Amino acid sequence: MQANWHAMPPAAVLQQTQSNTSGLTSVEAEQRFHEQGPNTLPAIKTEPAWKRFIRQFHNVLIYVLLAATGVTLLLQHYVDTVVIFAVVVINAIIGYYQEGKAESALAGLRHMLAPTALVVRDGKRQQLPAEQLVVGDIVILEAGARVPADLRLLETFSLQVQEAVLTGESHAVTKQTEDLAEQTALGSRSNMAYLGTWVTTGHAQGVVVATGSSTEFGRIGVMLTEVSKLTTPLVEQTARFSKWLTFLILFFAGALLAYASWLQLKPFAELFMIMVSIAVAAIPEGLPAVMTITLAVGVQAMARRHAIVRHLPSIETLGAVSVICTDKTGTLTRNEMMIAALSLSDAQFNITGDGYAPNGEVINATVDTALVSDEARLRDIGRIALLCNDAQLHESADGWQVVGDPMEGALLAFAAKLGISVEHDRRQWHRHDEIPFDAETRYMATLDHDHQGHAFVSVKGAPEQILTMCSWQYAVGRQVTELNRDYWLAEAKRLAAQGLRVLALAQRQVADTDVVLEQSELSKDLVLVGLVGLIDPPRAETIAAIQQCRQAGIGVKMITGDHPGTATAIAHQVGIENADKVLTGSELDNLSDEQFNDTVKEVHVFARTSPAHKLRLVQALQAQQQVVAMTGDGVNDAPALKRADVGIVMGIRGSEATKQAADVVLTDDNFASIVAAVQQGRTVYDNLKKVISWDIPTSVGESMAIILALLLGLALPITPVQLLWVNLVTAITLGLTLAFEPTEPNSMKRPPRHRSEPLLRGALVWHVVFVSILFVIALYGVFQYALNQGQSLEVARSMALNTAVVLEIFHLFFIRNIYGASLTWRALRGTRPLWTAVILIVMAQALVTYVQPLQQLFGIAALDWHEVLLVLLIGVALLVTVEFEKQLRIRFFNWRL
Ligand code: ATP
Repeated sequence: MQANWHAMPPAAVLQQTQSNTSGLTSVEAEQRFHEQGPNTLPAIKTEPAWKRFIRQFHNVLIYVLLAATGVTLLLQHYVDTVVIFAVVVINAIIGYYQEGKAESALAGLRHMLAPTALVVRDGKRQQLPAEQLVVGDIVILEAGARVPADLRLLETFSLQVQEAVLTGESHAVTKQTEDLAEQTALGSRSNMAYLGTWVTTGHAQGVVVATGSSTEFGRIGVMLTEVSKLTTPLVEQTARFSKWLTFLILFFAGALLAYASWLQLKPFAELFMIMVSIAVAAIPEGLPAVMTITLAVGVQAMARRHAIVRHLPSIETLGAVSVICTDKTGTLTRNEMMIAALSLSDAQFNITGDGYAPNGEVINATVDTALVSDEARLRDIGRIALLCNDAQLHESADGWQVVGDPMEGALLAFAAKLGISVEHDRRQWHRHDEIPFDAETRYMATLDHDHQGHAFVSVKGAPEQILTMCSWQYAVGRQVTELNRDYWLAEAKRLAAQGLRVLALAQRQVADTDVVLEQSELSKDLVLVGLVGLIDPPRAETIAAIQQCRQAGIGVKMITGDHPGTATAIAHQVGIENADKVLTGSELDNLSDEQFNDTVKEVHVFARTSPAHKLRLVQALQAQQQVVAMTGDGVNDAPALKRADVGIVMGIRGSEATKQAADVVLTDDNFASIVAAVQQGRTVYDNLKKVISWDIPTSVGESMAIILALLLGLALPITPVQLLWVNLVTAITLGLTLAFEPTEPNSMKRPPRHRSEPLLRGALVWHVVFVSILFVIALYGVFQYALNQGQSLEVARSMALNTAVVLEIFHLFFIRNIYGASLTWRALRGTRPLWTAVILIVMAQALVTYVQPLQQLFGIAALDWHEVLLVLLIGVALLVTVEFEKQLRIRFFNWRL
């Protein structure tokens, strides 16, 4: 195919790509798809499995262990060599599994974030995955869209494209359709739109001329990475802390080794093994791995609940959200619109029907029958509804569906109810120019001509806005009379109070020669034809979700572009607090920052706002130390979403550009999914905290037991080889189960954590100290008890080793509930991963304790049932003690981990 598309006129491009303006047929598209392949850029090469496995050995702890293998080999302590080496391999396997889990979680996210494109096929607009595009497809670009392939533009309306990724030019460039000289440089090809660039304003239609790696973007070999590494500030902090701690511990172990050898406490070979095992026990090596898995599990759980986390650190922030600022339309409401009311200058109508089906009646509700309207005005209304409209309706097995804006879909169904043949009449009119809808100006206008020499400007938008553009209205008999502004404002208010979304429709007939629509032409001379009221019922699940927010101490603020009356009515229906108090965008503009900061506390409903107000609201709330989640869909929402602590974009309604700015994408646009994500965010944070609270006391307790024995010149209750086993096999396996912990029952019944709350708070430090002391006492106690009973050193050590594992298991059951009670049936019933790990570890311990070669390897002996029972009772005693301490701590001091 020829590459100089920019030098060819549109007709030639269509001919060459064997396409036409009504698009390819789906059969043709499918055939081309088989020939050309998917419209994707080459994937990032993933690391081969063996390399990933080898990489697990690149870690300070493993170096220490490998060095220890060498030293033990030199010292001819072959048993130690084998054990240490086995531990190294087991560690690598767990690390490998953890990375695999994280990788598959991220791959899943990438898949769900795949971009879509608006395409004309079989003469109809359809939303398709961008990857299915083929050469010849007709693509529609709207503000905020990411250009999905290389396009030769066929039609443009004020189109501006930001091409920085390709050309480095940071200003958006204006596009047009005229052909250009062949040697025009890439950055100046104003009739082309290239894959990977962004539409900032306007809209356009173009034909695909290249896909995937044949595009300009593909040719420069850029790879797209949508999702970053699986990490959060907390995980990074812990990883950094672990690394720092590792060096510190190695230093101390070295110093201790030097000191103990100088005092000749034990032979050097033995001391060396002790130091290695202490270092391994103390270093929280498993922590970052377990935390990464916790994140991976959290990311997947959120995705199942329709929230895809694009920016992974937000998982943590989500758990701390204290205010959710949400859109109304489509988030709190269903965004399934139907026109239910129509007001003319002298008559009101009710409209019946079901969804987007084009059947229903328009019933005159005006009591005074003398004011019956005439057909001509209804035809005008129908024509405006049809022409000032970009949506399409399709009938499918599930009923009538809209492609495009649901409000415009409702207008089409309404036009049909007024007797207009939508398909037929659309073909009769040709749109010469348009002013696209903009959330700042709140209207849309088109200029259309028919074949009989008629030309109309059709306008629809927010009533207050349209009223400023009109001087006239139609009275009975389509007589033009002076605009009765008060009447229309009162009508708009009346409809809004019923929770209806109100739209004003206006028009002006223009000369047949008029083909350009200027904003200035619309300043005052339009004729207002009528108002329509649309129902958009609240989603059933919204009410429960808002109730849940209240219990969780999370404020909910509705920010809508809609009429204040509609906003209040819907706020009441969904249960937003203080719904009667509404602040409009223009009232907000008149407040100083201080006044606004004060008002923002009590006001929960904001109406007629524009995207700039969202930004101001986020800033005001953040100034009050709130952690703000903000939703958005349009391109102009991007700055507010970026500024918010968690920017949430609607996956269905949101533009691709807004998705780029957001932290979280909601696949179902539903408010309830935001609340579910917050709950999941709290769960992830809690689980990270549980991992740390469980891991550290275990490590500290066990290493302290050995250090004390060494310094006091006593026999070691646990040998170095045993300590390695406990730390690198049992501890990691058990710790992993915390990643799968479900949400604690009352997690959404307490206020959000403070934004600057540190993780290592007093209560956690205390817990570490307390449990470490209990570990030391238990290990020593049981060891000494066995020796006092006249048992051999092997049996005493066997009891100590098994006690260490049992304590870990009981502590694990305890840590599952840091807010509620741990001694309940629900708490003790555990989870499947928990019991799987416990059973595996118990079996492993049984093997070590009772199989002779293993006994020899670990230097222990079999235990009889009395001893086993004692070990178990020590575990129970630990659980009861820490639970008692927790209940006292929470009840009397409200001091939580
Ligand atoms: P939100 O989604 O934030 O709850 P919204 O959808 O009502 O609010 P906008 O999309 O900014 O907010 O719309 C604001 C107003 O602009 C609407 O109330 C309506 O009057 C008008 N409007 C919305 N969409 C269109 C459109 N496509 N054409 C003309 N006017 C529109």
